This record gives sequence, C-alpha cells and structure tokens, in this order.
Amino acid sequence: MILDPRRAAVVAIGNELIEGSLADTNSGAIAARLAELGVVAEQFAVLGDDVAQLERAFLGLCHDYAIVVASGGLGPTLDDVTREAAAAAAGVPLELSEEVLAWLRGLYRARNRPMPEANVRQARFPLGAQIMPNSCGTAPGFRLWIGGGMLAVLPGPPREMREMLEQQLIPWIRSTCGEGPAVASTSLNLVGLAESQFADQVGDWMDRRANPRLDVTAHFGVLRAKLRASAATREGAQRLLDERARQLRERFAEHLFSEDEPRLEFALGRLLLERGITLATAESCTGGLVAGRITAVPGISAVYREGWVTYSNEAKIRSLGVDGELIARHGAVSSEVAAAMAQGAARTSGARLALSVTGIAGPDGGTAEKPVGLVHYGVCRDGAVSAHERRFAPLDRESIRQYATHTALELLWRSLRSERGR
Ligand code: ATP
Ligand code: MG
Repeated sequence: MILDPRRAAVVAIGNELIEGSLADTNSGAIAARLAELGVVAEQFAVLGDDVAQLERAFLGLCHDYAIVVASGGLGPTLDDVTREAAAAAAGVPLELSEEVLAWLRGLYRARNRPMPEANVRQARFPLGAQIMPNSCGTAPGFRLWIGGGMLAVLPGPPREMREMLEQQLIPWIRSTCGEGPAVASTSLNLVGLAESQFADQVGDWMDRRANPRLDVTAHFGVLRAKLRASAATREGAQRLLDERARQLRERFAEHLFSEDEPRLEFALGRLLLERGITLATAESCTGGLVAGRITAVPGISAVYREGWVTYSNEAKIRSLGVDGELIARHGAVSSEVAAAMAQGAARTSGARLALSVTGIAGPDGGTAEKPVGLVHYGVCRDGAVSAHERRFAPLDRESIRQYATHTALELLWRSLRSERGR
C-alpha cells in the first residue's frame, strides 16, 4: 500500500508529558510547520518513555502515515528510550556511529570537560537510519523507514527540536514529497455568534475536504475562523483564499472585528482612538477586569478617562451618584441601576461613552428571579443610555466574570461599529 505523503502523525515522548508536569508544545509547532508544506497532521500521540509502548505506536503509525514526526527521549540517560523503540519497530539493532561519537567527544573537548560515558548512548542509532545532526545540543536525531512510513525523531528541548525540524527535516520532506501544493492561510475574528450559528451559516465550507478548508475555534465569546487554501501555485492558493475570505467578510460583516489581532479590546481601542471618543467604565461584578482589558491596549490613555469598581451599593451611590431609592426598589443587579451607573460614570468623568456592568457572579446570591449568571449592562453614549441584559449560566464564578467582561467589550465595540462614520 502506498501511503499518502501529505498525511502525517506527530508523537510527543516523555514521562513528564503524561504525568502532567509538562505540556506538549512541540507537537503543535511541528504540525503547524508541516501544514505550511501542505502536509496535514491528522493525529497527535503523547507517550511516556516506555520501549514497548513506543515500539507499538511507531509500528502502528508508520503503517497508517507516510510521515511520523516524534520528539523527545533522545537524552543520554537510561530513561530515554526512543532510539531503542525505533530500532525495535524497524526490526534492526542499534549501531554505534563512530562519526557521531567523535563529534560528541569533540564537543566536550571544546568545553574542556571529559565526556561522561552515558553520552555514548547518543551516538547509537538504528541500523540504516539517516542521522540528523544537532546544531545546538548533544542529541542528534534520525530518520528511519518503518514499513511504508518514515519515522523522524527530533530532540525534546523545543529550541533543538525547531532547529532540527527547520534545518534537516523540512528540506527532506520538500525534496521527497516534491514542492507539493502551496498553502495560504488567514484568520477572521468574530463576536456575538455561537459556534453552532456560525456552522449553520457556512454549510459545507467546513467540510474536511473543502478547499479552502475552514476551521473555527471559540474562546470566551470570540470565534476564530481559520481559512487555509492550497493550490499548485502560491498565487492560486492566495486567489482561492481571497475569494472565500471575501465571502466570509460579507456574510459576517456584523460580527467581524479583526483579521489578525484576536483580542477584542484592541479592535475597540482602535475605534476609540480613530474617532477620538473618550471612555469611562463602572464595574461591579467584574471587579475591574473590563478596565484591565482596556488598559492593555497601548496608547489608550488618549481616550480612556477612568474606571470605577463600585462593588457596594454605597459606592454606587457615592462615586456614581446612583439614587439609593432606585437600588432599594430594583436591586443593584437591574437594568435601572446599570443604566444609572453608566450615566453616572459619563457625567462624573465627562466621557462621551460610558459602560457599566452589574451582575451575580455566584456561586451564592442567586434567586429564582435573579439567578447566578444574570448580568446587566448600561451603555451611555453622548447622553443617550441603553440597558442590556445577559444570562451566563450555568457557569462557575470565574467563567461568568470572563464572559461578562468579554460582553462588556463587545457592547462597546458594537455601539461604535453601529455608527460607522458618525
Ligand atoms: P536531551 O536529553 O538531549 O535534552 P531529549 O531528546 O532526551 O533531549 P527530553 O529528555 O525528552 O529530550 O526532553 C528534554 C526537555 O525538553 C524536557 O525536560 C522539556 O523541558 C522539553 N520537552 C521535551 N518534550 C517536549 C514537548 N513535547 N513539548 C515541550 N517541551 C518538551
Ligand atoms: Mg525525556
């Protein structure tokens, strides 16, 4: 069976990875780099330093995939067993490379230190393997055919892994798989849309075989739609990409806030700065998170006046001039009080745009009428105030605060977006 040279698997090796003390970042970096060549990583495997398990995994993956890229377990100590496992999977012995051994001894001589005997292990490779030199560490990698698949083993330390990937493996993949299709990609960032609504509106554009291929990920209210087009030439790929991106921009114009920067506060900051509109915030349940996000934007001091954290009723009355009667009548979490907070923030700061947020983050304090996750917002723009209600539930306190913060930024962004050119 001839394997499709554009399908790959990625393996991360190390006990620390399966014990949870280290997160695997190598695999994602490898997959992203392969994708640029048009090679799709369809599977990630994370395995401990166990010869038998690694051998089985190498055999299985090389049976299914033309390219299997592994990282880790090439160290000099006995717990690093990737070399042994690869040799076993290929059914060959390990063989000492005099050349690599001499190079290793040279490395230590240059450091004026004796080479520990343990390092000799790093000069042993499966018989028939192509050795890939390591330009910034002591563990060379290697490539080895196992059945119809090529297993490439890179060192675990990310810097060494990247270097070998770039210098050794990518050129080899290019030369054996041909240039392959050119790939062009871009991302669109959207708000105010659930993943499922997005999926409904794009239909089969999200099909795995579609070209361009469209993927979407969600993070606290932001949808990131990633497009990747492939074609025989770079121009061809770019054309395909541009056309689909244009369709997406049109279809989601109301939701699109940026094509590069996924942080909503940056899109908001840009609008405020472009139009010179001043802003103030008054927060209760988000405790300053909104102000924190806004002040993350460089240069925002030109338009951001001030922010209050008015957690108690007393503070809402004293700092924002909210009527105590209003709070007594409707409660601090109400559209009436949210509106009054926004008006108070606008009045006190003199800002043209003011936002307020007041809600129940839980876990306690909810009632049937006002459940945990209920959040009211006020937006005051040049004296005109509007109130908005959201229900984030059932979620934990931190998630509610995160969503509430994101929605505050979204409301501000929308209020500016809807008045284009004003
Ligand atoms: P060497 O022993 O020569 O440093 P090695 O190939 O044996 O290289 P490992 O012992 O497996 O590499 O890993 C060395 C270090 O590299 C780990 O402690 C960790 O900091 C980092 N590392 C290994 N694998 C990964 C991974 N998948 N993602 C992120 N970091 C990793
Ligand atoms: Mg290790």
